[in-house]
Amino acid sequence: MNKFEQLGLSESLLKAILDLGFENPTDVQEKAIPLLLEKDTDMVALAQTGTGKTAAFGFPVIQKIDADNRNTQALILSPTRELCLQITNELKNYSKYEKGINVVAVYGGASITEQARDIKRGAQIIVATPGRMQDMINRGLVNISQINFCILDEADEMLNMGFYEDIVNILSTTPDEKNTWLFSATMPAEVARIGKQFMKDPIEITVGAKNS
Ligand code: ADP
Ligand code: MG
Repeated sequence: MNKFEQLGLSESLLKAILDLGFENPTDVQEKAIPLLLEKDTDMVALAQTGTGKTAAFGFPVIQKIDADNRNTQALILSPTRELCLQITNELKNYSKYEKGINVVAVYGGASITEQARDIKRGAQIIVATPGRMQDMINRGLVNISQINFCILDEADEMLNMGFYEDIVNILSTTPDEKNTWLFSATMPAEVARIGKQFMKDPIEITVGAKNS
C-alpha cells in the first residue's frame, strides 16, 4: 500500500499523487503532512534542498483551502521568480482534481497589472517573491488581510537575498490568527529571528538527507 494513504490526505490529492508518480513520502513529508493536516499550528521545518519540501507544505495547504471562498487564503513567499513559477506549477498539479482552487504567481520582471488582474479573478493561493508582493501591497493590488496560512519557503535563501525588511512588512499586514509555516534548509540567526517574531509555539521538525 502506498504510504501516502496513511497521512490523512484527501482522495483527490491521492489521485494527483498517483499521477505524479510519487511512491512514498519523503521524510519531511511524512513528518510534516499529518501534523499540518491535524493541527492548527505554526511549524518550522528544516530539511535540505531536494527533500520534497514543496509537497510537505503544498499538500496540506491545498487540502485546507476552501474552494468555495474566492478570497486569498494562503500566501507562499519564495526567493526567486523561478522558484515561484516552479511552486505554482507544482501546486497546480497537486490540485488538478480539486474544483475551483486558483494559484497565482507574483514576481518581478513581469506585468504587475496582469498579475493584479489574475488575483482579482480569485486567487486562493498566491505564490510571491517578497519584493513584488510588497509592491502589490503598497499599490493596494492585493488583499491578504484574511489569509489563514503564510508559508515562508526557502527562508534562509530569502533572507540571504536581503528580503528581511519586505518579509517583516508583509507579515505585519497579515492576521495574527493565521498559521505560519517556515521551511528552510538551514537556520541562520536571521531566520530564527523571523521565527521568534512571527510564530507562536511552532512545532519544529528536522530531517536529514533524502531517505536517510
Ligand atoms: P526542496 O524544496 O526540498 O528542495 P522539492 O520540493 O523541490 O525539494 O522536490 C525535489 C524533487 O523531488 C522534485 O522534483 C519533486 O517533484 C520530487 N519529489 C518530491 N516529493 C517526492 C516523493 N514523495 N517521491 C518522489 N519524488 C518526489
Ligand atoms: Mg524548495
